[in-house]
Amino acid sequence: MKTYTFPRGGVAFEDSAVPPRGASVTAFLPALSVLPLVQHTGPKARAVVSPGEAVFEGMLVGKGQGQGSANVHAAVPGRVLRTVTWNMPGGRVNEALVIRMEGAFDRLGKREDDHTWKYLSPFEIQRLIGEAGIVEMEGSGHPVPDMLRALTKEKRPLTLVARCVFDDPWLAADYALCRERLDAVAEGAAILARASGAARVTAAISRREKALSKALLEALKGWELKASCVITGNRYPQRNRRELEIALRSAEKGKKDQTGTFFILGPATLAAVRDAVRLRRPILDRYVAVGGSAVKTPQVLRVRIGTRIGDVFAECGGFVGKPRLIAQGSPLKGRRVLDMDEPVTKTCYAVYALLEGRERGAGAVSCIGCGECRAVCPVGLDPAGLFKRFQTRAFLESEGWLRRAAECHGCGCCEAVCPSRLPLMQSIINLGKNDD
Ligand code: SF4
Ligand code: SF4
Repeated sequence: MKTYTFPRGGVAFEDSAVPPRGASVTAFLPALSVLPLVQHTGPKARAVVSPGEAVFEGMLVGKGQGQGSANVHAAVPGRVLRTVTWNMPGGRVNEALVIRMEGAFDRLGKREDDHTWKYLSPFEIQRLIGEAGIVEMEGSGHPVPDMLRALTKEKRPLTLVARCVFDDPWLAADYALCRERLDAVAEGAAILARASGAARVTAAISRREKALSKALLEALKGWELKASCVITGNRYPQRNRRELEIALRSAEKGKKDQTGTFFILGPATLAAVRDAVRLRRPILDRYVAVGGSAVKTPQVLRVRIGTRIGDVFAECGGFVGKPRLIAQGSPLKGRRVLDMDEPVTKTCYAVYALLEGRERGAGAVSCIGCGECRAVCPVGLDPAGLFKRFQTRAFLESEGWLRRAAECHGCGCCEAVCPSRLPLMQSIINLGKNDD
């Protein structure tokens, strides 16, 4: 089968510190959970419970506040002890409900009511997804109902893309989910195709996961969808929207059947959509890859939302030595965890602890002009040149450089290869923000 990819740059990313991705382990239920009211891109959800009140498993505890905001639900039954606030990256303030687990579970270990969606209208499906607080779980937490609303304005035909592209080994959690819940992923795609009016579904799958492509295609066809598969390259950042669209467009070249606009979602979101519509279940847990050189037993865990990251590491046997760096996400795009009481949120797909880790930019020296950053930038930027302008503030006189900086999509490839450990990505993103 032919492979489609993006034309330049990118890195082949391997990491021996990732957990084995074959199967997941269900984590212990958290005795104390911290449930943030911001787990999405927009405004904070409004708390609808107060300290002292009892909550049940799956109960609405935070009401989404319009565009970009999403509902938040209690992942365990218990009692709200207090609310806490903390500063998030980017200067936003988050607020969370601290819940002590107590009482009986309404869903765990019980047979959940199963609802057919065959006769639901797109509007009803959208409402169920909104009530369940479904956000894009592999990205920044964009609410899926917002995405659906934006797509109704699209005139072109729509293709739903099930993005199973594993260009980064830290996507081990998504991979385990695909192995264990592939039918739910396919059904979620079918539900969203109905809700969005997508004429077809395309499974985008990394070349090294060909077996998965066959199984997913079979599962999609079971829903009587017009389904196809595009095999993509393995280089990072193949799963980025820009690079994935390049691959998808080149796959459609010469074909009569044009795919139009792409509605791209990953496997965790698709499975969550299926649970929201079929079981009326909000996001209560998620798959998280836990690894790094400091972790005793790296593994993929199925973790309740709100579980503290310290508890997640404890579940993996704790540390073999004092970690120098604890972070969440991938080493290419992740961010430092400053407090082990920080919780797992809807968008947290990996946490890692490193014995020898250094934060990006730490210990940086001068640019040696090796050109590595230029060679790997998939957009064709000159990261070293942009960084120099950022440092000297020379960008103030040059709109051309600002425009170029605004093209940076923050993949982190340049930083990953820079021998001088320069903080290229964030500097270039900040530079691009001046282009208004
Ligand atoms: S972070 Fe930006 S500048 Fe660096 S490689 Fe990616 S797109 Fe290019
Ligand atoms: S990779 Fe780093 S050291 Fe090499 S040219 Fe780019 S910024 Fe300079």
